Amino acid sequence: MKVIDFHTHAFPDSIAARAIASLEAECPWKAVAPGTVAALLESMDSAGIDVSVLCAIATKPDQPKGILEWCGKVRSSRIIPLPSVHPDTPDSAGWVRRIAKEGFPGIKLHPMYQEFPADDPRMDPIYAAVSETGLFITIHCGRDIAYPPDDDRASPKRLADVIRRFPNLKMVCTHLGGWRMWDEVARHLLGGEVFLETSFSLTELGPQRSVEIIRAHGAEKVFFGTDWPWARQDEELANFRQLGFDKKQARRILHANAAKLLGL
Ligand SMILES: [Zn+2]
Repeated sequence: MKVIDFHTHAFPDSIAARAIASLEAECPWKAVAPGTVAALLESMDSAGIDVSVLCAIATKPDQPKGILEWCGKVRSSRIIPLPSVHPDTPDSAGWVRRIAKEGFPGIKLHPMYQEFPADDPRMDPIYAAVSETGLFITIHCGRDIAYPPDDDRASPKRLADVIRRFPNLKMVCTHLGGWRMWDEVARHLLGGEVFLETSFSLTELGPQRSVEIIRAHGAEKVFFGTDWPWARQDEELANFRQLGFDKKQARRILHANAAKLLGL
């Protein structure tokens, strides 16, 4: 069975060690591997993962150019990078159009690391440009282990408001729509016109609740993801397989749903 991991991270070789160390310094969590593309490919080979979606995050306004160039370099049949723009990047909408023109399928955003509430009007030009170009957004959802537990900048409610205002916006909500905000996920996102991705959620929720959420949303709108190098791909895949979905549904969640959005 083919498998797509919709949520991974990696950094250019020259800064990977430093980037991982500084991220680890700010959160009570350790990476399971060096965050390089070579290490990611090794992990994919041993876990039996065919394709990984690699999420880049522009944490400063001037980073989209360098990120886009690097994404172009590491793109392959097995690695699908998502470039990123920052809310304060001059002509952020222009950058979105350039990302589309260069053939990338979507962009990645993170309300905490990029310091914006998901429904901030500053984001409107980006959301509008993503809608127009037909790209998708993968966005961090819910709490983040590196930020205070009351930080609600990526709350399901804010995301639902964005979708209401931009009904053509294709949105992939990581962490099943809102890590540690599960009641809000049920209230605002389940069954809605968004995709959910499973990373960091299956062990947190336990098998029964994970399955309930996936079924309530609709298994045709759910992708498998791990957040590697913050979780092991082989373990997360084993966790997913324990949920007991039948072959047809597993094939959809592990591959077909994501392949369709990625145009594979
Ligand atoms: Zn992530």
